[in-house]
Amino acid sequence: MRKLATIRKIDAIRPIEGADAIECAVVGGWTVVVKKGEYQAGDLAVYCEIDSWIPLELAPFLQKGDRGYEYNGVQGNRLRTVRLRGQLSQGLLLPVDEVNGQKFIVGHFLDDGVGTMVMVKEGDGVSGALGIQKWEAPIPAQLAGEVRGVFPGFIPKTDQERIQNLTVEVAEWTAAGLTFEVTEKLDGSSMTVYSFDGDEGVCSRNLNLRETEQNSLWKVCRRENLLDKIAGRDLALQGELIGEGIQGNPYKIKGQQFFVFDIYDIRAGKYFTPAQRRHFCDTYGINHVPVLTGCADKDLGTGDVAEILVWAEAKSVLNDKTEREGLVFKCNADPAIHFKAISNKFLLKGGD
Ligand code: AMP
Ligand code: MN
Repeated sequence: MRKLATIRKIDAIRPIEGADAIECAVVGGWTVVVKKGEYQAGDLAVYCEIDSWIPLELAPFLQKGDRGYEYNGVQGNRLRTVRLRGQLSQGLLLPVDEVNGQKFIVGHFLDDGVGTMVMVKEGDGVSGALGIQKWEAPIPAQLAGEVRGVFPGFIPKTDQERIQNLTVEVAEWTAAGLTFEVTEKLDGSSMTVYSFDGDEGVCSRNLNLRETEQNSLWKVCRRENLLDKIAGRDLALQGELIGEGIQGNPYKIKGQQFFVFDIYDIRAGKYFTPAQRRHFCDTYGINHVPVLTGCADKDLGTGDVAEILVWAEAKSVLNDKTEREGLVFKCNADPAIHFKAISNKFLLKGGD
């Protein structure tokens, strides 16, 4: 499970111009607005990422008005990106206390089941212990479809880590001179088409889908002959399905389109390099997510996360009136290295 809430060290506290009661806490690549004096640089705290679903009892102050919201049966609130006094604020900090050298989350003596207190330390994931879930937008019926099974274990899922959680790694990759393919992150629904050992399938982000006439993923797969293009090759095409009925169709395209962002060689157990993937898509006439102009082989500049987050802000290649969701970076030399930089402009406009 992704670590939504973790025990992290506060890197710095910064003032907000013109604000008396609040200030900023910096945690890795994240900035959170907090009450003045509540945290010091070097303190441990629970950091909860944006899109965490925070149970009401954990942070009742998040509730605006008395209207209760529920997600998977839990009353609470979703952490969104906001601006306070002009300052970007992302996520939530909760205090970690220390008694007799034992660190614990205030009000939450984590229980190991036999009644003793479980201490927390830097790096611990505490989402489960605090009942924090990842908020996900509901999936429309024509995408969800009928389930054939779980996502195949022989193909990796399509997740991308957020650059804000990788400040140390980004500095290392920059120093090592690694170069990246930079693509636009499309705001649709994840889709995987595979052919392996005589079996073939179409999957959403987490499920293997049964072929039905209503299912959008299967329809596009058949229309584009995607299974024919990989038949007998033991490959998985992974991409984004965008268009009508998906995420509000921000690009205003007609119908639906599939754009590949990864190709996995199932038998070899590894991803195609970015160059191999683009070549494959060219050869077989398959749409590829937009590669930013001149950015097939891009270095990370100064390696400053805040600067890379500014690169992420621009209009979409697919529609110049639409704010793009962000960028995905894939290392040309090492397929294990990849991350996303979501545009804060997109998030502030209410993007998911
Ligand atoms: P998120 O949807 O924010 O969890 O980010 C990860 C998802 O971005 C992946 O599961 C893909 O479905 C999607 N995605 C969209 N465009 C791209 C792209 N250019 N490269 C990689 N993933 C992408
Ligand atoms: Mn998405």
